[in-house]
Amino acid sequence: MDGVVLPGNSTVEHVAAPVPEPGHGQVLLAVKASSICGSDLRAIYREHLGTGDEAYRGVIAGHEPCGQVVAVGPGCRRLAEGDRVVVYHISGCGVCSECRHGYMIGCTSPSRAAYGWQRDGGHAEYLLAEENTCIALPDELSYVDGALVSCGFGTAYEGLLKLDVSGRDRLLVTGLGPVGLAAAMMARAMGAGPIIGTDVAAGRLELARELGLVDHAVPADDKAAATVAELTGGGCEATIDCSGNGRARLLALESTRKWGRCAFVGEGGTVEFAVSELLIHKQVTLYGSWVTSLRHMEDLLGHLVRWRMRPDQIVTDRFSLPDADEAYRVADAGEGGKVCIEPGR
Ligand SMILES: [Zn+2]
Ligand SMILES: [Zn+2]
Repeated sequence: MDGVVLPGNSTVEHVAAPVPEPGHGQVLLAVKASSICGSDLRAIYREHLGTGDEAYRGVIAGHEPCGQVVAVGPGCRRLAEGDRVVVYHISGCGVCSECRHGYMIGCTSPSRAAYGWQRDGGHAEYLLAEENTCIALPDELSYVDGALVSCGFGTAYEGLLKLDVSGRDRLLVTGLGPVGLAAAMMARAMGAGPIIGTDVAAGRLELARELGLVDHAVPADDKAAATVAELTGGGCEATIDCSGNGRARLLALESTRKWGRCAFVGEGGTVEFAVSELLIHKQVTLYGSWVTSLRHMEDLLGHLVRWRMRPDQIVTDRFSLPDADEAYRVADAGEGGKVCIEPGR
């Protein structure tokens, strides 16, 4: 089968790999969709920056896989051939406290391996997956919808859960990349509004506005904090940074109202801020949030069906597997929405 590895230096390489056979507790998936995440660009594609949980071991890339079961290994107790599944993208040890709570992302066992980082991922025709990392994809959702939930939408949803977003909240989303767009989309369904989004890229502001995901698209410049304050009479009850940029994080904190909540979801970098002024004296609660749990991902798939909400509406570019090179170039340009590879397309 054809598979894609990321050697660094912003390059993509195709490798011919044998189609794997499922071992105990494993299933073989025909990969139908495998989207590109900001983490793939930040820590693997440009250069291999990651260490520990983010170390890239030269495996087939892609940690947002969604596909159909085509073979079932011995000892599987739930899945059967033909099942459509989303893959929770980290395979944990299964028995530590984090794993037993569904947060395989937080597993610290040496056996923990993330798809597309330490074990083969979704940028291939087939993927070997642990049965306990597969979540049923509802019929109403497409494989691309499922791929988007497997990391980005799941991560954004977890941040909104931590913030306990509801109809009582005005919401600011800093960073309108795929995770920010996802946060804006789901926050609307959870009742928040108005929703304000900021980004430095004009194309991303335009996309968020066009899709109707934000009520106000504000350029992330020196006037942004004043604009948000004016639009809301002094700030938002809830703010979420999906950019990982220090200035955007600062903007989120500055734009959080007294007694408000702020969540940091965007990865990497640092931030420096006046703790008394922005946190203590405003009685603000600040959350860090990393990916999500198996249970919350499963819940979210059900919510999306009832909300009649399709994650794939934020996909602006779709590519076949042989065009993975172009897919990564487009994703790295950072001007559009989500980029998805569809093996078999
Ligand atoms: Zn990701
Ligand atoms: Zn574990």
